[in-house]
Amino acid sequence: MKRVYSAPSPLLVGHMRNILQNAGVRCFIRNEGLIGGAGELPPTLVWPELWVEREIDHARAEKLVEEAMAEPEPGRGWTCPACQERLEHQFDTCWNCGHERPRR
Ligand SMILES: [Zn+2]
Repeated sequence: MKRVYSAPSPLLVGHMRNILQNAGVRCFIRNEGLIGGAGELPPTLVWPELWVEREIDHARAEKLVEEAMAEPEPGRGWTCPACQERLEHQFDTCWNCGHERPRR
């Protein structure tokens, strides 16, 4: 067994577990139950950790986590469907051609 990933947020670690499981990697979370009940311990000691069951999956799992981290956050920007201009998320219409931002 080998540790792949650790983060202060159980949600984030759970998200990574889903990604690995969807890819067929057998994995589990350690320390999940300690969150919230460990007020006196330094927070890093009780970060939930994601582990792979088989060491042979480790390199692949690390790559999957890396890719998941590199994904741009949703709502970060958009591309105008009319003129292909890249726009920041705060713009609702294309400054180049006036096209409205498409709904997702
Ligand atoms: Zn445009």
